[in-house]
Amino acid sequence: MDGPPSAEAHLRVVVSGGSIAGLGTGLELHRAGIDVHVFEQDGGAMHSAGAGLVVQPELAALFHPSDGAHLPTTQCRGRRTLGFGGEFGPLQRMPQQFTSWNAVHATLMRLFPGERYHRGATVQRFACNEQGLQIDIGGVGAIAADLRVAADGAQSPLRRGPFSAGPC
Ligand SMILES: Cc1cc2nc3c(=O)[nH]c(=O)nc-3n(C[C@H](O)[C@H](O)[C@H](O)COP(=O)(O)OP(=O)(O)OC[C@H]3O[C@@H](n4cnc5c(N)ncnc54)[C@H](O)[C@@H]3O)c2cc1C
Repeated sequence: MDGPPSAEAHLRVVVSGGSIAGLGTGLELHRAGIDVHVFEQDGGAMHSAGAGLVVQPELAALFHPSDGAHLPTTQCRGRRTLGFGGEFGPLQRMPQQFTSWNAVHATLMRLFPGERYHRGATVQRFACNEQGLQIDIGGVGAIAADLRVAADGAQSPLRRGPFSAGPC
């Protein structure tokens, strides 16, 4: 039975950065019924970041069997170290699954609605006024939102600021 719309359903969230963190966050918020848009400054094909990624439980949890999107993986049963002379160390039992940045990004892109993913859109600054949170996005303009997520990488200038002003 459909109930009244939840308060969260009216939230508008802007995510800066359309790599793994931004898309993963966007996907989970979209699944929760939240009005979320992801803005990625790169206007072309995204470039791979990293080689083999270990599939950690948090990453695996993003992909539901019912989605029909399969994350390509490979696996190993154990790990063996090499000594300084090149000799084999003992085999440690350590079953792990691996994937790649490309595979994770492509699978997330298949699951996240394309009309909510904006390429060539650089989040520039945030400010608060009577209307609430305003976000300036290069190539898009100023948009209003209730929440911003800075997923612009490990060195994230947007998280360090100062990009915001006002009480929000
Ligand atoms: C050489 C190398 C090897 C790596 N190897 C591994 C590995 O083996 N395992 C592993 O887990 N990780 C590895 N990594 C880290 C890897 O980058 C991360 O796992 C993953 O890409 C991080 O995702 P992220 O979304 O947090 O950030 P990023 O991938 O850095 O994405 C940030 C995104 O934000 C965008 N952006 C930035 N500023 C703005 C803005 N103002 N507005 C809009 N968009 C913006 C950028 O264009 C970018 O697409 C490696 C990285 C490198 C460089």
